[in-house]
Amino acid sequence: MTVRVRFAPSPTGMFHVGGARSALQNWIYAQQHEGVFVLRIEDTDAARNRPEWTEGIIAALDWIGIERGAYEGPYYQSSYAADHTAAATRLYGEGKAYYCGCKRDDVIARTGNQHSGYDGFCRDKNLGPGDGRALRFRTPDEGETVVEDLVRGKPTFENKLIEDFVIARGDGSPLFLLANVVDDMTMGITHVFRAEEHLPNTPKQQLLWEALGHTPPVWGHVPVIVNEKRQKLSKRRDKVALESYRDEGYLAAAMRNYLMLLGWAPSGDREIVPWSVIEDEYRIDEVNHAPAFFDVKKLRAFNGDYIRALAPDEFAACCAPWLQGTDTIPAPPWSPDAFDLQVFTAVAPLAQTRIAVLSEIVEYVDFLFLDEPVRDEASWAKAMKGPAAEILDATADAFEALEDWSAEPLKAVLEDVGLARELKLGKTQAPVRVAVTGRSVGLPLFESIEVLGREKTLRRLRAARAAL
Ligand code: GLU
Repeated sequence: MTVRVRFAPSPTGMFHVGGARSALQNWIYAQQHEGVFVLRIEDTDAARNRPEWTEGIIAALDWIGIERGAYEGPYYQSSYAADHTAAATRLYGEGKAYYCGCKRDDVIARTGNQHSGYDGFCRDKNLGPGDGRALRFRTPDEGETVVEDLVRGKPTFENKLIEDFVIARGDGSPLFLLANVVDDMTMGITHVFRAEEHLPNTPKQQLLWEALGHTPPVWGHVPVIVNEKRQKLSKRRDKVALESYRDEGYLAAAMRNYLMLLGWAPSGDREIVPWSVIEDEYRIDEVNHAPAFFDVKKLRAFNGDYIRALAPDEFAACCAPWLQGTDTIPAPPWSPDAFDLQVFTAVAPLAQTRIAVLSEIVEYVDFLFLDEPVRDEASWAKAMKGPAAEILDATADAFEALEDWSAEPLKAVLEDVGLARELKLGKTQAPVRVAVTGRSVGLPLFESIEVLGREKTLRRLRAARAAL
């Protein structure tokens, strides 16, 4: 039997990191079993049926390494509506589903419980279709439904506790539970790996599989991802969109490595490993049962490691979107013709060891391409006091007279300026750094000044002095 897995997102306008994790888990399983990965867009909710949202899903998958053309699909759930209706009709025809005219309030009034499931009121009334009647699945009164779950073991549900759930609304439109099952059947899906929040749906869906005469798939419900407060990651509270990580300058390779470490680890006490190792070693049945903490700090540190491992030309290529701007990444603060690739290349290795996300490149190099540096007020307030004026004056004078404009002699100048005032180099450097780069943190100062050049450096030192 060929393994066929699927990723079945509902378009929401952004790609949740948890979705990326599910997609990768399915993808890896398909790779390991020489199986097929199917992409199905669950777009039956008309409000969610926007082509650009679907395109966003495909682009996000592409970015994370599940490339267009390497999988089957995308299929669109909306184009299988006739199959969903046929399945509903068949279940009704076989007496496995019945029409129900109850409103939610009727059920609450009868049971006296806001949260109760359906009480079976219309079960044996033999109602026909019509009048906004919903179609309900007749769940078995006895026995139990055992879910084969590679992550969870064998979750077992007593059938008498499973309510007669709705499979098609009053207007005939099928619900998620049914449409999702029918599509999985049509597409020959053998394994369903998805988020744990769907586990309560699973016994219902498994009953549908059986009622429609098919062997259910093997399931795998993966624990949810939580934030530092152990709350489920939510788009209102947390940064969850894969696109926003991408646009901030997380590398796809770092992101997918990190996502796979949620609840799992490769052999040998390693965390950062080539993707091929993950593809070999990842086992969905080893994924921890506890919710996984999405630790953005750790992801950042990871990303920094990945950035440092890039070859210089790769690093420059990776920075390009932030040096130019794109549809989704803001343009940098300098004008495009002020950018000088040679200058950038000269300082890029210094920046590469310092940044954790690629977007930070802009604030490390902007002083090189702007007429005036961006002035960080907090840095200014801290550095431009005490002997700052004197230091700036003395430094500018000595720089002006310096013959060899390179890092070592530039540094020697500042050491002398400091020595004459009994100041450590750090203290002497502070106002100079802020005058020249605008900020108190950045690239090594003397290399920066060397690359910036004499004229701009002197102008900035004098301007800062005048502003004191
Ligand atoms: N469209 C559903 C979702 O995005 C799919 C669930 C499933 O994988 O079965 O949650």
